[in-house]
Amino acid sequence: MIKNVKLVACGTPSATAALTTTQFHPASFPSSMDRQKLVLYTKLIIIGLGALAVGVALINVPSESLGLGYLAILAFSVLVTPRTSLTLPHSKLTFSFSESVIFLVFLLYGGELAIIAACVESVANCTYLKARGIMKGRWIILFNSAAVSLVTAFSYSVLLLFSTYFDPSLLNDLLNTRALITVLGILALTHFAGSSFFAASYQSIRTGENIWEIWKTECLSSSLTQLTGVCLTGIIYKMIGFADPVVIGIAVIGLALVYLSYRQSFNEIGSAILQAEAAEREKAETERERRREAEKHASQLAVTLEKEEKANEALRQSEKDLRHAALYDSLTNLPNRKHFGDLLRVLIENYKNDPSAAFYVLFLDIRKFKNINDSLGHTLGDKVLMVAAIRFVRMLNSSDMVARIGGDEFAVILTNLASLGKAQKVARRMFDSIAQPFSLSGNTISISVNIGIAPCDTEYDTPEEVLRDADIAMHYAKERDSGVAIFTKELRVRFLERVRFENDLRNAVANGELSMSYQPLVDLQDGGLFGFEALLRWHHPEFGMIPPNKFIPIAEESGLIIPITVWILEETTTQLARWQKINRTYSDLIVSVNISGKHLSNDDLFDDVENALAISKISPQCLKLEITESAAMENAEHTINMLNRLKTLGVQLSIDDFGTGYSSLSYLHRLPFDTLKIDRSFVYSVGEGGENSEILQTIISLAKSLKKKVIAEGIETKSQLSLLRNLGCDYGQGYLLARPLTRDAAEKSLYENKSWLPVKLITSPSDKPQSADELNLPVF
Ligand code: C2E
Ligand code: MG
Ligand code: MG
Repeated sequence: MIKNVKLVACGTPSATAALTTTQFHPASFPSSMDRQKLVLYTKLIIIGLGALAVGVALINVPSESLGLGYLAILAFSVLVTPRTSLTLPHSKLTFSFSESVIFLVFLLYGGELAIIAACVESVANCTYLKARGIMKGRWIILFNSAAVSLVTAFSYSVLLLFSTYFDPSLLNDLLNTRALITVLGILALTHFAGSSFFAASYQSIRTGENIWEIWKTECLSSSLTQLTGVCLTGIIYKMIGFADPVVIGIAVIGLALVYLSYRQSFNEIGSAILQAEAAEREKAETERERRREAEKHASQLAVTLEKEEKANEALRQSEKDLRHAALYDSLTNLPNRKHFGDLLRVLIENYKNDPSAAFYVLFLDIRKFKNINDSLGHTLGDKVLMVAAIRFVRMLNSSDMVARIGGDEFAVILTNLASLGKAQKVARRMFDSIAQPFSLSGNTISISVNIGIAPCDTEYDTPEEVLRDADIAMHYAKERDSGVAIFTKELRVRFLERVRFENDLRNAVANGELSMSYQPLVDLQDGGLFGFEALLRWHHPEFGMIPPNKFIPIAEESGLIIPITVWILEETTTQLARWQKINRTYSDLIVSVNISGKHLSNDDLFDDVENALAISKISPQCLKLEITESAAMENAEHTINMLNRLKTLGVQLSIDDFGTGYSSLSYLHRLPFDTLKIDRSFVYSVGEGGENSEILQTIISLAKSLKKKVIAEGIETKSQLSLLRNLGCDYGQGYLLARPLTRDAAEKSLYENKSWLPVKLITSPSDKPQSADELNLPVF
């Protein structure tokens, strides 16, 4: 009989840990459902077998073994053991008194009581752990206790076998150290083997992992626990064998001290590890913080760099835009004057060094562009310029350059041309092509240009000089209405003279060089004085009298005609006011003032006329404004507007030089004029016998049908006068009647109160036209 053999409990921490794991590891086979069932069945089987082992042990408990000692050990295992286990922090190593208690019961009371003790101790231990939340699971207490009981039963069985077949004397004298070591060794090994196999198998069933791998990693370290338990049991058992209270007391104290110092060390190790972990965590956190900071800085840096890159890009773009804006025209995108000048400067230099590097500069000015702007608006005006730019570009080679150098002014550099004739051909082609009508916003527009050509010359030093000469040629083309003109030195002389006149004219009013001539306007039926046409005279201090046809165009082009006309309006109306007072018969005398097209297109004209009337205080209808037909037709709509406004002042309006301006009848009908003045060319062409009078007749009948008064200018012969009287012309003006008179001469004539018609015509107004020699011509 193996009476003194004591079994070892299976409540080793490693086994417990393995058995209590509830983690689920997916495995390919069996399926998770099957595995759950397998685990459940395993549990049930273990529980059953454990119950069986405990049952068998209970039946076979030797009654003499039960006593206070056994109960004390049970009490110890229930109350103390669970609370005294020590787990080395961060290791699977756990030291507890569980094994020692089970092994000791084995040695003292035999295997049956050891199985029961193992079961009780396991229940207590699991309950304690479960209460502390360390262990979880529905069947865990039952299952663990059964497993531990089974393992203890297994150890007991092996020990019984061993003592039966190998060393029957083994269990008889356990105080013998050799026998004690052998028994304890068998117990420890079988207990370890059983519990570790158990734990690894169960874990493998649960998770599907390799049993050997589990055993190595999870269970092997628990062998140390077994070893410690066995040693402790051996020592305790020996001391009990001595039965000396002093030795036992010393041993208990010693063991307690060892336990406490272990516990202390474990706690210290634990807290040291915790501290190290905390420090590690802190360090890691600091590292993480640093990394975050670094990443933040890096991303901020990236953002800053990106922003900087964008700013640089924007800067580069704006620099590019600026450079472009500095060199290109924003509307047409053609090179501007500066860009053009830069290239021209290079060409001038090249030509000085290499006479074969000839070039030609074209100056192009769009004719009457102001009218386009005024009539169609600036937006369409801009589009017209764009169309012109596109057409110019199309007509040139890539080596040529076209630039927009002013509002409606373009310039071209032609290179690689063999001769001036070729440049002229290019210019002519441009002239023709630009004249092709085009459609813009429903308007059919046709434009034309004046082109001046300046050939290269070694005398040029700057681009401005070349452009100036091309401009001079352009003005000449404009003046001659020839479209294209080539610059010559004579043109420059003329131009300089013109510039000189323009400068002199600027001060002419202030210097008292301007004066008015007054040419009588005569009533052709009764010979009475109807009024005067005011004609401007310029007495140049150096060149003497300068004819109006020479300085009026200069005044018009420079814009000086406007301030000059303002002066004329005041001068003539105040003069008339004085003359009207000479005699009651002159109270209706009128003065007719010529208004240039330039002034007509200026809104200030209205105020200027109103001012003159206000200053002179003459009756508005005594002031007549003469507008040439061509000026009136230049921008007919605007003319109609302006004349209507002027009409509200009460002044009279006359169309001058009628017959030369190609007025359309529809416009003529809408123009609010009072008098139509026949151009002197139609009067002049009438022969002595009244030939070529058809146009005169037509114009007079037209005026009559429009219910306008007619005045004929340039009457030089009596036959012309007679014819006009017979045709029913209302008024006349001409050398035959009176030449333009100085102010004083005009005034003198007023005092003479004479008839302005030749005597014979007065006496027989209804007579046939007289021959020239029969007429009595007044001379002034
Ligand atoms: P206009 O307005 O048609 O003036 C009539 C012109 O014919 C005057 O020339 C006058 O002297 C001239 N004339 C008059 N009767 C005869 C004649 O029987 N035979 C010939 N051959 N000529 C005659 P004038 O004074 O040389 O003026 C020429 C043009 O200059 C004017 O033609 C007018 O268009 C312009 N003009 C003159 N004074 C002014 C002015 O104060 N303002 C403006 N805007 N233009 C003016
Ligand atoms: Mg006139
Ligand atoms: Mg005239």
